[in-house]
Amino acid sequence: MQEINRDAQTIAAVATAVAPGQGGIAVIRLSGPQAQAAVQSVTRIPGQQSWESHHVLYGHVLAAESGERIDEVLVLLMLAPRSFTGEDVVEIHCHGGVIAVQRVLARVLDQPGVRRALPGEFSQRAVLNGRLDLTRAEAISDLVAARSQRAAELAMAGVDGGIQKRITALRDRLLDQLSELEARVDFEEDLPALDGAALLEELQMVRCQLQQLVKDGQVGAALRQGLRVALVGRPNVGKSSLLNRLSRRERAIVTDLPGTTRDLLESEIVLAGVPITLLDTAGIRATSDAVEQLGIARSHDALASADLVLLLFDLSVGWTPDDEALRQRIPAAVPHLLVGNKVDLAVSDARAGTSGSAADIRLSASTGAGEAELVQAVLERCGALADGSLLLSLNQRQGDLAQQAADALARSAQVAADGLPWDFWTIDLRQAIHSLGEITGEELTESVLDRIFSRFCIGK
Ligand code: GDP
Repeated sequence: MQEINRDAQTIAAVATAVAPGQGGIAVIRLSGPQAQAAVQSVTRIPGQQSWESHHVLYGHVLAAESGERIDEVLVLLMLAPRSFTGEDVVEIHCHGGVIAVQRVLARVLDQPGVRRALPGEFSQRAVLNGRLDLTRAEAISDLVAARSQRAAELAMAGVDGGIQKRITALRDRLLDQLSELEARVDFEEDLPALDGAALLEELQMVRCQLQQLVKDGQVGAALRQGLRVALVGRPNVGKSSLLNRLSRRERAIVTDLPGTTRDLLESEIVLAGVPITLLDTAGIRATSDAVEQLGIARSHDALASADLVLLLFDLSVGWTPDDEALRQRIPAAVPHLLVGNKVDLAVSDARAGTSGSAADIRLSASTGAGEAELVQAVLERCGALADGSLLLSLNQRQGDLAQQAADALARSAQVAADGLPWDFWTIDLRQAIHSLGEITGEELTESVLDRIFSRFCIGK
């Protein structure tokens, strides 16, 4: 990695989730040269306890002037380089909740040379100090953010170094080819002739593997972020009933992610390990009422933002012009499934199929018949069929870089086809190697690092 200058400041932040009345303990973490001195000056540690690395101390954090006890704490000292960041790290384990935690943090931040940590700054320091590679740091962030078991499993594969190993192996293969090429550029006459076809084949094999990783990353994104599925249909076709039925399944862990709107009726469920946000867009229909129109505009936005639309209709009534009108409103770019409900009301196929609109799925929200097929179809349509074969998943940043590398390798095939000399080949090959190096953090600039870690939470 390139040399990156960093300030020698000590950083501090609450490392655990903080909520009123919740959490038995909270951890405040400091990292940097002043970490130990800062904690020593705000705590009273009674008796003969010694400030030894990797030992736990017991004591109190005291208020600045009054000397009043703010909280009873445990202090864990981890001196450089045997710490998460590779710097001196001190953790103060205090009681959970909000007030005491904030007071302890404020005391620490008052100490000379200590400032509040930026988002992801602990992980960033760990990466800069070579304690953690970039893909692992990103995977830890994904693990913390995981909303379903499958997403957590995928993140763990990254934490274990799976992405790092795969990308490094592919990059090494490209480096081997590059050194062959460069040798030819410099000493063409002294070396045995280069087998251009074999070299090209090797590059294209690496390209195929990268392409597969990019594809897996897209499926993984669905597992990580979940899918948005909108439920539409005329009144009384059974939308609420279906919503209720699906909601009885495993619930997703709902977090208040910034940017998620909750003014539509949304419920979060998990289908086969994939978090699904069901949007109830009951408001979609023509109206002149201003307020209602506002709701409808929102519903349309929701439709456009959905990964899949389920258009519910009533099999006992058949496909009506209103159903057709609704179908026309689904944006062409969004896939939809026609779901015939109330199959239990024994209807003839002929009626259900009127207007040439046979249901993709037939079910009964009342009895649950056909529910499994619906779940299967939803996952299939969204390209997120959780068959367990997905072992690694690149995040967006990594996927974009892998795609860039694959594109560069595709260009090398073109250069070969055009019969250009060796040194032309090396341009694309170098580009591919550089992109893969950015994935693992071997070739990174400070601004890129700042951008990556700014997306992390504070305290990570
Ligand atoms: P919504 O207006 O689309 O939300 O429809 P509801 O979920 O409120 O359902 C309207 C009526 O149809 C209710 O009386 C439900 O009990 C009934 N219903 C919903 N699904 C089924 C079904 O699969 N079979 C039968 N027989 N009745 C259903």
